[in-house]
Amino acid sequence: GSTIGILGGGQLGRMLSVAASRLGFKTCIFEPGGDCPASHVANYHFQAEYDDVEALKKFAASVDVITYEFENIPTSALDILENIRPIRPGREALRVSQDRMTEKDFLTGLGLKTAPYADIPDAAALSAALDSIGAPAILKTRRFGYDGKGQARIKAASDADQALADMKGAPSILEGFVDFTSEVSIIAARGLDGSVACYDPGENVHRDGILHTTTVPATLPASARTDAVLLAAKILNALDYVGVMGVELFVTPQGLIVNEIAPRVHNSGHWTQNGCVVDQFEQHIRAVAGWPLGDGTRHADVVMENLIGDDMSRVPALAQEPGVALHLYGKAEVKAGRKMGHVNRVG
Ligand code: ATP
Ligand code: MG
Ligand code: MG
Repeated sequence: GSTIGILGGGQLGRMLSVAASRLGFKTCIFEPGGDCPASHVANYHFQAEYDDVEALKKFAASVDVITYEFENIPTSALDILENIRPIRPGREALRVSQDRMTEKDFLTGLGLKTAPYADIPDAAALSAALDSIGAPAILKTRRFGYDGKGQARIKAASDADQALADMKGAPSILEGFVDFTSEVSIIAARGLDGSVACYDPGENVHRDGILHTTTVPATLPASARTDAVLLAAKILNALDYVGVMGVELFVTPQGLIVNEIAPRVHNSGHWTQNGCVVDQFEQHIRAVAGWPLGDGTRHADVVMENLIGDDMSRVPALAQEPGVALHLYGKAEVKAGRKMGHVNRVG
């Protein structure tokens, strides 16, 4: 049988491994950490750093295809890996999504709407950008941000100095604040043959910068639903993408605005585990393995809720609730703000 190599050993790598093994594949994860969620379920674990050239080469040679659960894989590691085995989704998707500036330029280049934005290398640039974009706005680090980390809200121009200090010297981007009516995301998949399939859009609610719930079906006019599917397909085709992608959108009276894209399975797609015959994890494995895409039709209404930090104390009660599917990541240590699991409430 074939082996799928997965870069990253978090919960996404864990759920990808489970899906792969259901299809008869073996999985091999590459992850510097030892006791990580994916290591409990994968067949093999290369525990090494991303600058360990020999380990990278051995890992690549031991698998048939390489995929990943996070987008911040060092370029130097990718250079080594791609000479040995195919990396899916490909390099272009990583290049575009590793940097918020590059990503916004790519999206607007496709004719898609984003928040107004400007590159902020220094204080003078921030002052000029605030003049043109206006407040309220959000300053974000260009790279490595997740769960709302590396972001500072600017309510008025007088907040600028503090916001810039919060970036700690990291290259940043200013985004105008989008006055959205709701947030939705579309989980889209593209196969090796170029076929595209999208899941039903989910409506997202964030708490403290972290995804709290995703609800399907989303409250969304039919035209916006179609727009979401078309724009996702445009993004995937432009990248010659293979795999699953999460596209986060703002819904406004003027139409959909793209917030960001993630070249991987996505937290807002976890509802598919209990709402579809083929969930996002299996869909991703199918795509990267060159299989036909599966049936992602939604067969139930689902509310996904993340279990973060102390939410774990609710597990005994949740385990007795009807209609609740529990998904726990096996993380040894509970920490504030750490994603420990999620529940899907079905029906
Ligand atoms: P993720 O964990 O999804 O990768 P992230 O750290 O990359 O999150 P963003 O998605 O950029 O962060 O922002 C987190 C949330 O903050 C958004 O879902 C949205 O609620 C709010 N937000 C971000 N940018 C804007 C904006 N330009 N206008 C309005 N709200 C915004
Ligand atoms: Mg993000
Ligand atoms: Mg986001």
